[in-house]
Amino acid sequence: MKVAILTGASRGIGLAIAKRLVNLNYKVYGLARSFEKTDFSHENFIAVPCDVTKTNELVEIIRRIEDQELEIHLLINNAGVGFFGPHEQIQIKDIQAMLRTNLEAPLILCQLLLRNLKKSRGMIIFISSAAAKKISTHGCAYAATKAGLSHFSNSLFEEIRKYGVKVTSLHPDMTKTSFYDNVDFTYDDEEDAVLLAEQVADAVEYVLGSESNMVVNDITIRPQKNRIKR
Ligand code: NAP
Repeated sequence: MKVAILTGASRGIGLAIAKRLVNLNYKVYGLARSFEKTDFSHENFIAVPCDVTKTNELVEIIRRIEDQELEIHLLINNAGVGFFGPHEQIQIKDIQAMLRTNLEAPLILCQLLLRNLKKSRGMIIFISSAAAKKISTHGCAYAATKAGLSHFSNSLFEEIRKYGVKVTSLHPDMTKTSFYDNVDFTYDDEEDAVLLAEQVADAVEYVLGSESNMVVNDITIRPQKNRIKR
């Protein structure tokens, strides 16, 4: 059985990916700050309460997982937060939360797990965002964290491809999750205007299924229609 570490596994895209991985016979260590509202349990899903922005806690948890597992095959950096509005109105603590959750934590996780992933000739998937690839007024800082993540993904692949590690950045556009609960816009509920978390999990499954000689470096998925609701 392969072993995966997945951040942001308590809801939304991360939870959909966790369920998919378990179906694909992975043992999944899912990290998030709280699983109180997570309505999913499985013998191969280990819910690990962890705030990825608390670096000491994160390092300790990864060391403990490494002690328990002979090999780790997959790291999915999915945890993320978004705060939107004119940049001068974004609170400093929220800028820091975006940078630490969306960018700093994935970089640290890669640093911690690379030795193990090289050993297993494993895979790293970053859940970036379509925002990484476009001008994002009212989301300048969020898009910057995601652009940084995608750039890191591309550079890291060049650095470690010779060790057999595959690296992918996945760029979903508007997806129906609780991500929009606390922002001043949301998805249009019309079927063609929003992706489902399960469709992001479909993309992850496609990436995982690639032949050993092929790496899917970059996937962008968008709803058919481009609409938001304010
Ligand atoms: P979501 O429903 O808000 O889920 C976010 C997940 O991240 C939750 O499990 C949350 O759990 C976890 N998380 C947040 N801060 C964390 C922290 N400090 N430590 C550990 N876990 C943390 O959002 P989502 O839509 O599924 O987003 C997942 C990823 O997809 C994010 O990186 C987001 O930027 C990206 N994305 C989303 C969309 C979209 O339209 N929804 C589009 C493109 C990209 P806790 O709160 O319990 O910690």
